[in-house]
Amino acid sequence: MIQDKNYVEPEEDDEEEEEDVSADDIKAILRFLSPFAAPYKGLLAFLGVLILIEAGLNFSFPLVTQYLIDEGLIKKEWRALINSLLFMGIAALAVSVVALIADYVYTRLFTQMTKDIRQHLFDHVQSMSMPFFHTTPTGTVLSRFSGDLVALEAGIVGVVPQFIMPFMEVIYATILMFMFDIWLGLIASLIFPLILWWPRIFARKAFIAAYEKRQTEGRLIGAVQENVAAQPVIKAFGLAPRARIDFSALNTSWFGIARRTNFASALVERTAQTGLYVIHIAVFALGAYWAYTERITVGTIIAFEGVFLSMGYALTNVTQYVPTLAQAAGSIHHLNDLLAVKPTMVDPPDAGELKPFEREVRFETVAFSYPGSSFRTEGLDVAVPKGSFLGIVGPSGSGKSTFLNLLMRFYDPSEGRVTIDGTDIRTVTQESLRRQMAVVFQESFLFNTSIAENIRMAYPTATIEEIHEAARQAEVHDFIISLPAGYDTVVGERGGQLSGGQRQRVAIARALVRNPALLILDEATSALDAATEAKLNDTLRKIAETRTVVSVTHRLGSVVTADRIIVLEHGHIVETGTHSELLRQDGLYATMWSRQQSARRVVAQDDDEEEEE
Ligand code: ADP
Repeated sequence: MIQDKNYVEPEEDDEEEEEDVSADDIKAILRFLSPFAAPYKGLLAFLGVLILIEAGLNFSFPLVTQYLIDEGLIKKEWRALINSLLFMGIAALAVSVVALIADYVYTRLFTQMTKDIRQHLFDHVQSMSMPFFHTTPTGTVLSRFSGDLVALEAGIVGVVPQFIMPFMEVIYATILMFMFDIWLGLIASLIFPLILWWPRIFARKAFIAAYEKRQTEGRLIGAVQENVAAQPVIKAFGLAPRARIDFSALNTSWFGIARRTNFASALVERTAQTGLYVIHIAVFALGAYWAYTERITVGTIIAFEGVFLSMGYALTNVTQYVPTLAQAAGSIHHLNDLLAVKPTMVDPPDAGELKPFEREVRFETVAFSYPGSSFRTEGLDVAVPKGSFLGIVGPSGSGKSTFLNLLMRFYDPSEGRVTIDGTDIRTVTQESLRRQMAVVFQESFLFNTSIAENIRMAYPTATIEEIHEAARQAEVHDFIISLPAGYDTVVGERGGQLSGGQRQRVAIARALVRNPALLILDEATSALDAATEAKLNDTLRKIAETRTVVSVTHRLGSVVTADRIIVLEHGHIVETGTHSELLRQDGLYATMWSRQQSARRVVAQDDDEEEEE
């Protein structure tokens, strides 16, 4: 179990791939699957019974064939002929019905299990704390859902038709062959080493090539993904011809590898087939000779022939299933790694609900550093009384967002504590803590649904009036109703149909509709023009009269009216006070302020000159 440790995925290239399945792999697969199979014990038992019936019926066919030929055809016994044909007809019908039911049961069962595994995996990812998402590449999480789950599904859905059924067939065919004739049975048994061992020479090559092929395909997908995302840059810099050449080179290398892989797989099948032919001819020649010399009956050699061939194909089927199973075992290894990562921020067992915020939020000598990072913030002593507006400013990388991460309990302080009305936020449930907060991030992530739904998300029972009111406060209502579909406008993937500023205002409406006790803003107005920002700041100021607002910003204009501003530098609070107090201190804040003011004057002058022209 990996506890309190970030999930570090091995490089894809380092992943050991095995073409073989060891006993440990089988154990790992069974151990992984057993909790998912447990709810369906009854169905599994039923499937087992169906498979046994099917195998039993199949077992009877060669025996009846032998009887039909020897008694019915050669001895010309009319009743034997009719009886065996009748039996075959009924058995064929029965086996088809049983097989059909078995198909329905196993496909349903294993698809359901795949669905359960996917859901379990998703729920697990949902339960991860923020540090996991900060340190785990998205691609790694995605490939667990795409590559690994798909390989696992192939492994479990294929187990009945590709493994259990052929395996049963091999068992009863072997018994039958020895029953028909021990010597023929012995010669026919040579098929085992020939099909199971001989093709392996090529199977190993095929497997390694298949692995290389998948790697190259991964790179191809990566290249397409990057290309689509980089279209603005590609278009603007005229990089399309170069992109085409790069892609073509990668595609050509895929061609070489894929050609080798496909040919090697064909060779594996071909060698198995050749082995089958060789033994087949040997057995048939000997059997025919013995039938000719009347050592065995004609019925025996014909029935034997049928059994031998179907066993040969069943064996080939099993050998082809081995790589599928090996890949499923590899995937289970990856899934187990992911599932072993435990959330780092867990509620203590006796965690209570955080009572409605009444007095103050307080940072008490808080210190913190990210795992593996040299950045450290310390000596954070801050009190935010209810109904006040706290501004947090400072140069980029000074620890402003980190302050919010600690406040929202995305991370826990390494020293000191964060309290709300005197309660350490680590002692209450995260759900009850975050229920009292609403946050607007700099990256205003919108979901690909309507604007109304995006706003309602933060407060599912919000009425349409409340949604409109929140949008009005966020200065976005007029814009929304000017759209042809109004609040029903679907915003596109990541809200891509809206401009940055529009997205940001919808995100602000989403936070406001929640009517939070504590409103947290992380560069929430960075994408807005000066006029809209000024209007929004008035709204936020009003909100702060009853609510509490903590606002991180690099635009000092947004916090001039704050009740208190803290100035961070290198993770430390270097100044604190109101806007005018800080100007009087003539320190970092005053320098930042005058720099921003003169920059603004330059912009304003440019605007004026443009207007005059
Ligand atoms: P600001 O918001 O003031 O720009 P941040 O609080 O985002 O600064 O970052 C402070 C420092 O912490 C930076 O040096 C940044 O690289 C580092 N940092 C931020 N987030 C993480 C993280 N999840 N893991 C490791 N280091 C981080």
